[in-house]
Amino acid sequence: MRPHRAYSPGLTGVLPLRESRHLLEVLRAKVGDRFTVFDVDREAVAEVVELGPPVRYRILEERRPEREVGVEVVLYPALLKGDKLAEVVRMATELGATRIQPLVTRHSVPKEMGEGKLKRLQAIAVEAAKQSGRLRVPEVLPPIPLNALPKVEQGMVAHLGARSLVREVLDLGKSLALAVGPEGGFAEEEVELLQEKGFTPVFLGRRILRAETAAIALLALCTAGEGR
Ligand code: SAM
Repeated sequence: MRPHRAYSPGLTGVLPLRESRHLLEVLRAKVGDRFTVFDVDREAVAEVVELGPPVRYRILEERRPEREVGVEVVLYPALLKGDKLAEVVRMATELGATRIQPLVTRHSVPKEMGEGKLKRLQAIAVEAAKQSGRLRVPEVLPPIPLNALPKVEQGMVAHLGARSLVREVLDLGKSLALAVGPEGGFAEEEVELLQEKGFTPVFLGRRILRAETAAIALLALCTAGEGR
């Protein structure tokens, strides 16, 4: 069987059905095949002992690789039209976000998110975590109105009118909260409210980025750009 990482909450020795089917139908697993299982903070080399489904496995060796940024990284993207948040969730997971919570803002076109869409975004986060070797799957939470945001230890809001650059304000020792506006941008009073909550406006260059590009650029500067 080719190398594979399977998400197995609790490393219980039994794979969830979805993972089992992938192992059996796509990878054609056989008893004795080895693969990797992972949970929030554990990873192990495992061996298939029973095909099921569900596939049963035994753990051969447990490891704890470091793949996390080292601080909490919460992304607050405004609700976006169509399926744009799916890309944001996938890339934000690869870039180390620990939580993704959409915001309902003045100019967001969608004002809510259905249960089905939320579940799909959560499944995308699981897939992206697997693919990037992360053990921790970021939480994807239902949207909240912008004024329900908590005060944050260190926040940045991507804003076209900002003067500060990420590298001028980023403190690597503090948790991070990152806010990005919708297609129509944040209203000025929303940027003011975000500042009261601890978010510093930051500029991402001279071009007007699409909201999803801006979310990923901001996150990348705080994690990938710092080698973490
Ligand atoms: N007409 C809108 C405006 O003036 O805000 C454009 C919004 S832009 C398409 C969507 C979001 O991406 C913005 O609210 C902001 O958060 C972020 N953004 C896009 N380009 C940016 C840049 N160059 N610097 C900082 N933030 C940017």
